[in-house]
Amino acid sequence: MGMEIPDPVSVESVDSFSDEVDVLVIGAGMAGVSAALEARESGAKVLVIDAGGRLTCTSAMAGGHFYLGGGTEVQRATGWDDSAEAMADYLALMSPECDPAKIRAYAEDSVEHFRWLESLGFEFNREFYPDKAVVQPGTEGLSFTGNEKCLDVAAVAKVAPRGHKVPVPGDTGGAALVVGLALDELGSRGVEVRWETGATALIVDGADVAGVTWKNLDGGTGAIRAGSVIIAAGGFVLNRDMLEAYAPDLLAVESNGMALGNTHDDGLGIRMGQSVGGVADHLDKVFVTGPFYPPGEALRGIVVNELGKRFVNEDSYHSRTSAHVFEQPGRVAYLILDSGTMVEPAYRFQPLIDGWDTIEEMEQGLGIPAGALAESMAAYNEAAARGEDPEFHKAPEYLVPLDRGPWGAYDLTPGKCFYAGFSCGGLRVTVDGELLREDGSVVRGAFAAGACASNLAIDGKGYASGIQLGEASYFGRRAGRRATSATQRG
Ligand SMILES: Cc1cc2nc3c(=O)[nH]c(=O)nc-3n(C[C@H](O)[C@H](O)[C@H](O)COP(=O)(O)OP(=O)(O)OC[C@H]3O[C@@H](n4cnc5c(N)ncnc54)[C@H](O)[C@@H]3O)c2cc1C
Repeated sequence: MGMEIPDPVSVESVDSFSDEVDVLVIGAGMAGVSAALEARESGAKVLVIDAGGRLTCTSAMAGGHFYLGGGTEVQRATGWDDSAEAMADYLALMSPECDPAKIRAYAEDSVEHFRWLESLGFEFNREFYPDKAVVQPGTEGLSFTGNEKCLDVAAVAKVAPRGHKVPVPGDTGGAALVVGLALDELGSRGVEVRWETGATALIVDGADVAGVTWKNLDGGTGAIRAGSVIIAAGGFVLNRDMLEAYAPDLLAVESNGMALGNTHDDGLGIRMGQSVGGVADHLDKVFVTGPFYPPGEALRGIVVNELGKRFVNEDSYHSRTSAHVFEQPGRVAYLILDSGTMVEPAYRFQPLIDGWDTIEEMEQGLGIPAGALAESMAAYNEAAARGEDPEFHKAPEYLVPLDRGPWGAYDLTPGKCFYAGFSCGGLRVTVDGELLREDGSVVRGAFAAGACASNLAIDGKGYASGIQLGEASYFGRRAGRRATSATQRG
């Protein structure tokens, strides 16, 4: 698989082209199909190639949350007041490294984008799911999918649920509905999607990108000439060499966990962008998660490190808690519950270590310095009895003193606890998906969107479920429009 950056191919060295199009899209996941639809809508002759098959993309595995807000029809029908400003405030608070222009555009256009998604031929159910869940089990169209309700966040950004789930029950596969509808729409508009055909390198005309070379599963090879190329080829969670070099946190998932991606998440899209002078950002940032909720009652426990100290409000979004676990000494962490609060996490990712009659025994059993956990618990219990959490501001609904032994601990340490994850970093692009060089100039003819670009999903701490599909489709569309206009300008 490797890390090598494929040499760009000079246009003069190409004898013949299998196709000549205005816009060539690499990858038929959420980003690619959205880019292709919008490019076609803008009048471009479009071709999509995909190394895999129909719906083998990571998007088709996704649960189906789209992070949308600002007053969508689902929010309004379920009684939630939201605004683009509140949404932008939230995104900026959670991902301060994110380009404010991208946040503003995404929030301001969110209602229009919601309608565009529904125009593909489905409706988000106008129902709200109130409980704490990773993905709501049913088909309710709206739930909280980030940290909006956490008191430390709500103090700064106005609270509203923005996780819009497609009407497909269950945790996985829901977004296949949306990608499938988009593929059908591409077909009805005469756009070919050529499966099992992988881009191998970019073709350049001087410093400009002018097409791609390809190889298909039958061993056939060729070249496509294109006015613009949109790279929408996914992330790199399946490329071990890239993980070692950039994102070793994802290797911690290997010993007991799962890479959230398809076999073509090998980072080739990112490397092709780099081959023509593009730069990549945040390659070291990851999304990892080992959720211990549902049930929401599990959030009544406290999470401590090997020093017996709390380090996060336990009612955080699951990837925020997990990101904090990964920052602890030795990445060791435990969820501690007493006999009044003990529940089993629904996904059963965390082993239950043991039960102890006293906190002193629990300290010994967990290898925590004597007295340290007792001190943390005494402070927590005393404030929880008053319905407060001065240290981390956990919401009152989860605050109960953990003073009824015996006590038990679930092990959240990676390797012991099952974690799943994917890469967050990608190519640096403008708000319209144009590929950027280090000096801020645009690589003409090259665009990127989705998991191979760096837009809103910066890391697991700021992540909200639905951000990836949301940004893939939204910024994919913008790239499709700009790629078309760039081609038409010549
Ligand atoms: C189980 C699971 C659940 C998830 N749930 C959610 C969720 O609910 N909400 C959310 O926002 N995110 C979710 N995610 C993350 C989200 O699915 C991805 O971040 C997103 O789908 C990425 O979309 P994409 O279009 O960039 O990439 P993909 O959907 O992976 O599409 C990329 C396509 O490019 C093709 N390709 C790769 N290399 C080449 C090449 N060289 N030439 C041609 N084609 C190539 C691949 O075959 C693939 O079809 C989930 C992920 C998983 C695994």
